[in-house]
Amino acid sequence: MVKQLTIISGKGGTGKTTISAAFAYLAKGRAVLADADVDAPDLHLIMQPTVEKEEELYISQKAVRNEDLCTRCNICQQVCRFDAISAYDFSYYKCEGCGLCVYACPERALTLEKVLSAKAFQSTTRFGPFVHAEMTIGEGSSGRIVDEIRKQAREVAEKEEKELIVIDGSPGIGCPVIASLTGVDLALIVVEPTLSGIHDLERVLAVAQHFNTKAMVCINKYDLNLENSNQIEQFCKENNIPLAGKIPFNEIVPNSIIAGKSIFEMPPNPIADELVTIWGKIVALLELEKETTATKTQYSVR
Ligand code: SF4
Ligand code: SF4
Repeated sequence: MVKQLTIISGKGGTGKTTISAAFAYLAKGRAVLADADVDAPDLHLIMQPTVEKEEELYISQKAVRNEDLCTRCNICQQVCRFDAISAYDFSYYKCEGCGLCVYACPERALTLEKVLSAKAFQSTTRFGPFVHAEMTIGEGSSGRIVDEIRKQAREVAEKEEKELIVIDGSPGIGCPVIASLTGVDLALIVVEPTLSGIHDLERVLAVAQHFNTKAMVCINKYDLNLENSNQIEQFCKENNIPLAGKIPFNEIVPNSIIAGKSIFEMPPNPIADELVTIWGKIVALLELEKETTATKTQYSVR
């Protein structure tokens, strides 16, 4: 059975992508990587994928008017709570596809039609298979796009007999986060040592617990505020949440993203060392095969 690991955080920019790419490296070709942060995907910057398969996803629906049937009675405007339609106008981006105007139109001049919500890609990378997406501008169905990305990642994992799916999850606690979390074997929650970070951790943890998802916490840039980091550690202890590790601040992280490299493809650095330790704990908790385990001496600079 393919195991699934999601890396999530209460907000964007906490280091999820760096960690996801590092795990893809450490999995040594035995994992499928999925970018479920579909609203702001950036994992492809490090993965540098070669697209092998592309699929258009028609998920959202929009109202479409048959102008020949419309009598300009304006009933559609009266019922649309999103201010998307009137007798003479229609806003594609405001329409939520709820279908109320279709139901209310006395002339049956309106229908709902599916629209292109995103393109999904199955790619190859130097670390293994990668499933990702590009959303259509103004698209709001990110939760369902994440569902599709995860479904495709499972299909690739089964077909290529991979042991694990590493999911770079969406930040926050909204619909795409829930879609990133449900049914996974472990959620690694990445938190920064700020007051809002502690609050974010509590919120994300509540979502994970609601879905009975096992969770571990990783404090990123922990040395920027030791007092807050201690507070997070204390919180984890009190709530019986395993602490996967504490990653120090280091400018090599933004530099690696700029260079389009995993942290393991940069010169030896303490971030990579800590990530090897964290990975070891995840491998143990998920009971993955030993071959997936790396040691600090095993990674090499490319
Ligand atoms: S409710 Fe139907 S007929 Fe009336 S303005 Fe809207 S689209 Fe036209
Ligand atoms: S489908 Fe819903 S949101 Fe779109 S125009 Fe009709 S009532 Fe408004």
